[in-house]
Amino acid sequence: MTGQRVVIVGAGQAGSDAAAALRERGFTGTVTLVGEEGAVPYQRPPLSKGFLAGRTAAAELELRPEAFYGAHGIDRVHRDPVVRIDREGTVVVLESGRTLPYDRLVLATGARPRTLPVPGAALTGVQTLRSLADAGALRRELSGARHLAVIGGGFIGLELAATASVLGVRTTVVEAGARVMGRTVGPEVSARLAGEHRAHGVELLLGREVTALEGDRKGHVRVVELNDGRRVPADVVVVGIGALPAVELAADAGLEVGGGIVVDARLRTSDRAVYAIGDCARFPSPYAPGQLRLEAVQNASDQARHVAAELCGASAPYTAVPWFWTDQYDLRVQIAGIVRAGDHRVTVGDPAGRFSVLCFRDGVLVGTESVNRPADHMITRRLLASPDGPRPTPDEAARPGFDLKTWQAPAPVSA
Ligand code: ADP
Repeated sequence: MTGQRVVIVGAGQAGSDAAAALRERGFTGTVTLVGEEGAVPYQRPPLSKGFLAGRTAAAELELRPEAFYGAHGIDRVHRDPVVRIDREGTVVVLESGRTLPYDRLVLATGARPRTLPVPGAALTGVQTLRSLADAGALRRELSGARHLAVIGGGFIGLELAATASVLGVRTTVVEAGARVMGRTVGPEVSARLAGEHRAHGVELLLGREVTALEGDRKGHVRVVELNDGRRVPADVVVVGIGALPAVELAADAGLEVGGGIVVDARLRTSDRAVYAIGDCARFPSPYAPGQLRLEAVQNASDQARHVAAELCGASAPYTAVPWFWTDQYDLRVQIAGIVRAGDHRVTVGDPAGRFSVLCFRDGVLVGTESVNRPADHMITRRLLASPDGPRPTPDEAARPGFDLKTWQAPAPVSA
């Protein structure tokens, strides 16, 4: 057992899972989980979906019941964020002035929504959507809203647009790129999502940017002004234009940062007593060239378990298969692996119905994007998890009637 005092900074999915995983592994030292919010650590994915729609109550979002932490000897410090890491003294300093000594420190500080750098961004009725408090405020705003404008057609923006339009709120999405979800999926899935949103009455304005937000005399937003001169009426505006990793604590402490807190394959920062996991961490991955930073529940959770194993003495590279999903209307979009622009894409199934796009790099399957084909997603995850195992070729995938479910790996050639 290396290090008897573990302090985890950040009580989101990654932080909470790391604390729990340490105890599951039988770690007997102290575990302190420090968060800035007051709420018991909760799941974020439902905030833009079930919670916003009123189908899911706040209590149902809790990752673990409040009593879990005490029962497992996890000391929760909340509403008292870490303001400084003193690496020489091996303590963290909290806002209250209290200090917590550590032998091993885990940074799970997450990411913060980017804000819109235009006039009017501080009007009331304009907000981002990341925390439970954000989602609660938006739920109240939407109940009396006539017209919602969503800035950004990515994960958050589109999930929110789907929820709001089903609730009967007129919704306009303004996306700077040429297609929706351009950062995370290819053109086939973008087209399918765009079609579904339009069929539900959502107005999608692509390739356009916001130049200003205008308010009424009370300082409440009323109009979103675009760079083509168009004025979109809105009494609620949600900005979903991506997030930035929370690296300040790490940077101030002199740790290496750059597009995230830089870690090695074992998730260790440039200080071997300090680890970083989840949305804030930039790590090497066998699934893509260069380094990755992923905003994903899977990655937060798998890195949490990985770091717990490290803290209990294991040493191995982090190799969990990356995967993502989004639910919009009746569409479940799932992505397995890391797909890049330029990968060769083969569509299987009906692009207007259920389909998957298998993606190949140098002839090797590197990922699959699926719309309502969960088996393809699961099979791809399994195939990617064994780096030397068989995978279908692009030619096989392109044959009429190809189906991952019935695909048989060629028999190994015997010597
Ligand atoms: P999030 O988690 O916030 O949804 P994504 O990266 O999935 O993040 O999506 C953000 C989307 O916002 C991207 O499609 C990006 O092209 C778009 N975007 C970024 N800046 C702007 C902007 N100023 N106006 C409109 N859209 C923007």
